[in-house]
Amino acid sequence: MNFDLTAEQEMIRKTMKEFADEEVAPGAYERDKTKQFPSEIFKKLADMGIMGLPFPEQYGGGGADTVSFAIVTEELSRACGSTGITYSAHISLGGAPINLFGTEDQKQKYLTPICTGESFGAFGLTEPNAGSDAGGTRTSAREENGEFIINGNKCFITNASFAKHLALTAVTGETNGEKEISAIIVPTESKGFTIVDNYEKMGLNSSNTTELVLEDVKVPVENLLGKKGEGFKQFLITLDGGRIGIGAMAVGIAQAAYDKALAYAKERKQFGKSLSSFQAIQFKLADMAMKIELARTMVYKAAWLKDQGRPFSKQASMCKLYASEICMEVADQAVQIHGGYGYMKEYHVERFMRDAKLLEIGEGTSEVQRMVIARQIGC
Ligand SMILES: Cc1cc2nc3c(=O)[nH]c(=O)nc-3n(C[C@H](O)[C@H](O)[C@H](O)COP(=O)(O)OP(=O)(O)OC[C@H]3O[C@@H](n4cnc5c(N)ncnc54)[C@H](O)[C@@H]3O)c2cc1C
Repeated sequence: MNFDLTAEQEMIRKTMKEFADEEVAPGAYERDKTKQFPSEIFKKLADMGIMGLPFPEQYGGGGADTVSFAIVTEELSRACGSTGITYSAHISLGGAPINLFGTEDQKQKYLTPICTGESFGAFGLTEPNAGSDAGGTRTSAREENGEFIINGNKCFITNASFAKHLALTAVTGETNGEKEISAIIVPTESKGFTIVDNYEKMGLNSSNTTELVLEDVKVPVENLLGKKGEGFKQFLITLDGGRIGIGAMAVGIAQAAYDKALAYAKERKQFGKSLSSFQAIQFKLADMAMKIELARTMVYKAAWLKDQGRPFSKQASMCKLYASEICMEVADQAVQIHGGYGYMKEYHVERFMRDAKLLEIGEGTSEVQRMVIARQIGC
């Protein structure tokens, strides 16, 4: 057994830690206020070869492993949750399904621009009536003269405004009375495709969350991703990988909240002593440190299992569930340790708390994770 990172993973950690501290953290407060998408940061990440990190080198990727992807996501999220979710969705929702299920041609055409950073990656699953119950998909794709004609709506889709194409799920027919759901790659410039970016969110304000409207959007049948009717199975596999990304985001945001709380507790004096000398505050910080350590270990274990080609579905759900819930708790306690100052934006911890909440909702809510785990343990 060995808990050490490899030399390559250590190097990625060091590089990303410095990048996050120097390039990402300084503007995070301002971007949260102005809702400005972190385009400049992503240009730099593209130059550094990070945008396609875990994908094969032949498509412009870095050929790195899932543990490295988790490290990058964690470090970016520690500095800025919005930057973290943008990266996590770009890789695990945008690039991964094309890498896993795409043909050689599709990979050349659609994965390469994701790896180079020319396009952001995005994935359209959720609809107004199909959230946790993704089987409720109503978007339809009718086949006619060698084309799919797609009609429907998607909601809450990350990165779509900055994507040149994205995979989305649509009903392509019916088998034995059951909806046949398929995944189709759709260029975002297609006629009849509208991307609306006007949600007012609780947090992750500088990430891009959009509504998609498809009215008679035509794409060639070659844009089918994988086999017809396998869209449901494909997105379950895609979400397994995505959950490692959300877990890594949670570890990063929790670490940021803990770091701020520890520094503040040492500096702030009440009753003639620093807060960190009070046992009540020490116990809060001890619990925070312990939970972050466990969450990180769970995330890396799920990533490692994936890298070994071993089943990792249960561990991905467990790490996502645990890390997102402790992230919320840690952010809450960080605000508490800051007292009234924690309620003020300039102390950052309230942003961590707002950003953290999404992690209990996106890529399967906490309730859905418990359902997945229950199924995995044979309930
Ligand atoms: C900022 C943001 C970014 C997102 N990015 C993307 C994206 O890029 N692509 C994408 O496809 N989607 C995305 N989503 C959508 C996200 O995955 C969904 O919001 C999530 O899956 C929950 O679906 P819902 O919002 O419809 O809630 P619902 O499914 O309506 O759930 C509401 C509540 O009911 C609970 N619930 C539902 N069913 C059950 C049940 N059987 N048993 C117990 N409790 C249940 C849920 O856990 C939840 O607490 C994003 C969402 C947000 C907010």
